[in-house]
Amino acid sequence: MDCSSKKNQYYTEDEAAEALIRSNIRFNKPAISYYLCSECAQYHLTSRGPKHLLLNQPEVVERIHKEQQVQEWSQALGRKKS
Ligand SMILES: [Zn+2]
Repeated sequence: MDCSSKKNQYYTEDEAAEALIRSNIRFNKPAISYYLCSECAQYHLTSRGPKHLLLNQPEVVERIHKEQQVQEWSQALGRKKS
């Protein structure tokens, strides 16, 4: 279903949670939470409102740090090659 928010849609809460974590790995200003949209009845990420509790879970925090390091290493390698 189309949504006037034009945001990415996630069918399940699990998908939204995964997308939220990936956003925090990749971006300097990531989404901080997700919500169930009343218009399309699917989940969207948002950078407003209180930070989702998921992002305070130690295993999630650890995963974000680890994957950010991997990302930095691969970016550094990419720079050397070019
Ligand atoms: Zn929507």
